[in-house]
Amino acid sequence: MKPPPGLKLIDENGRRMDGRRPDELRKITMKAGVLKRADGSCYLEWGNNKVIAGVYGPREVHPRHDQDATQAIVRCRYSMSPFSVDDRKRPGPDRRSQEISKLLGEALSPVVLRQMFPRTAIDVFCEILEAEAGTRCAALTAASVALADAGIPMKGMVASVAAGKIDNTVVLDLRKEEDNFGDTDLPVAIIPKTGEIVLLQMDGHFTDDEFDVAMQYSIDACHQIHGMQKQALREKYLDAAVEKRMSEPAESEVML
Ligand code: ADP
Repeated sequence: MKPPPGLKLIDENGRRMDGRRPDELRKITMKAGVLKRADGSCYLEWGNNKVIAGVYGPREVHPRHDQDATQAIVRCRYSMSPFSVDDRKRPGPDRRSQEISKLLGEALSPVVLRQMFPRTAIDVFCEILEAEAGTRCAALTAASVALADAGIPMKGMVASVAAGKIDNTVVLDLRKEEDNFGDTDLPVAIIPKTGEIVLLQMDGHFTDDEFDVAMQYSIDACHQIHGMQKQALREKYLDAAVEKRMSEPAESEVML
């Protein structure tokens, strides 16, 4: 879609509407272990996206004919809340959320050591509380942290981000207007530990050179995001250790 007259997605200094450089991420914060009743969880804010991911499992699959006798199945549900977008979104599944649920499951399956848990399911729920473009990448990033928080054995985490093209410039991490009025959107997810690509979609066109730049921006950013994911998990265990120490009687009290 063409931008309305007067709306400049990128200025003469190469800065974007929010002042970012082409290869700059929006602000990202994440916190692991935010839900009491899920086995693992993560709350993530990415620009104006707000996402919560909760994980259950491994748990027995019912009905039994859905079981895989050799390995666990990873099931994902991506869901947008009615208040996540400007116009109230009709609650419940739609074509888009079904497609995103499927691709999230397919991106996460290769990292989970599924052979360790035959006949079980690992269920991942991603709830989009507020959406401002890039929610599938945000959901995938949060889901990986939630899986790790649940103690699910994995060969690495999945980190994800989209790149795109606006005004003939390749940019990283599209915000809403850039997604709506830009030319290309390329969501990517990798396992930073191994370099494997587990998600690659493209809407629009890139030349070969633009595609290479977009991939390089995305891969570099995924490594940056991976650092944040590890930090979120570290912080959870540091907080737990501090809490435990505070609740234990001091050594002098024990002696009394
Ligand atoms: P992603 O969120 O992964 O970028 P899309 O490219 O499909 O996925 O969507 C881009 C953005 O469009 C979303 O993040 C959201 O802000 C908006 N959007 C998606 N679906 C709806 C909807 N049903 N109603 C209003 N806005 C929507």
